[in-house]
Amino acid sequence: RAKKNLKTNFEYYEPEMEQETTWRLEMIRKLAIDFESRKLQLWYQPQVDLVTEQIVGMEALLRWPTEDGGFVSPAVFVPLAEYSGLIIDIGAWVIEESCKKLAELNQQGFSGLRMAINISMPQFRDPNFIESVKNIITDNGIEPDRIELEITESVVMDEPQIVVEALQELKSFGVKVAIDDFGTGFSSMSYLQKLPLDRLKVDRSFVNEITPGKSAFIVETIVTLGNKLGLSTIAEGVEKREQASYMLKLGCDEAQGYLFAKPMPFEQLLEFLSEQTN
Ligand code: C2E
Ligand code: MG
Ligand code: MG
Ligand code: MG
Repeated sequence: RAKKNLKTNFEYYEPEMEQETTWRLEMIRKLAIDFESRKLQLWYQPQVDLVTEQIVGMEALLRWPTEDGGFVSPAVFVPLAEYSGLIIDIGAWVIEESCKKLAELNQQGFSGLRMAINISMPQFRDPNFIESVKNIITDNGIEPDRIELEITESVVMDEPQIVVEALQELKSFGVKVAIDDFGTGFSSMSYLQKLPLDRLKVDRSFVNEITPGKSAFIVETIVTLGNKLGLSTIAEGVEKREQASYMLKLGCDEAQGYLFAKPMPFEQLLEFLSEQTN
């Protein structure tokens, strides 16, 4: 009887699995074509100092436009790019493009800003990765400490040795390292001591828990942990004034979220920065 059920389930699920695979392959094919024809965009989300609320940097975020004027969510296509290996080329473009834009900001008089760049695991497996990051930074005349690489806990857990070594080398070059979506992975805490980290990004889901009259033990614990480890902290997904105040009260250094600014194209970022300095 159990066998029969299994068989039935299998027969039922197979066509769906095939559809799913076809869909994924089709998305990957489209992504490769659109990347080659330079249709991917980079948007930038400002990051602010919680005390002064001045912009101190921005995170580069990929955007894949669709024909109907919308966007495919990076939460959907970044995993496909990782799975297919496309992320190696796309990621290299992200680093190059964001560094060029940071250099342009410097030329326009917006100096001292930091550019945060998301890095996926397959990029660390690319033997040219470290050299190319260094070259791009040097070629664009950027101070290495203005670049911050964001990695998630899962990246570290995948292949700790490769990642730790690469980060150590980039770190000695001067680049900064942040752990992204902190607290959402399944990792042990031990890597926190092994990794050459500078900043801890408190995941949006914990910041979201901050509502009036309710204490938020998890964010409090994360900020304390960051402080004790000597790391800077930044809160992700700050949408409400009370969330910003609470994070400031906890001693969190910076924030990023719709309360301050949504991700925006570069031209709009320039306008946004001009308004801030006026
Ligand atoms: P992430 O690195 O954690 O980026 C932050 C995400 O939170 C962004 O989503 C941003 O738009 C969103 N966000 C920021 N503030 C708020 C807020 O106040 N409320 C809400 N609800 N959301 C907010 P996005 O742009 O959709 O990117 C999703 C993820 O895709 C990123 O998460 C990152 O993991 C990945 N990703 C994006 N660009 C790249 C890239 O160039 N390379 C790699 N490897 N991954 C990328
Ligand atoms: Mg990020
Ligand atoms: Mg994040
Ligand atoms: Mg996140």
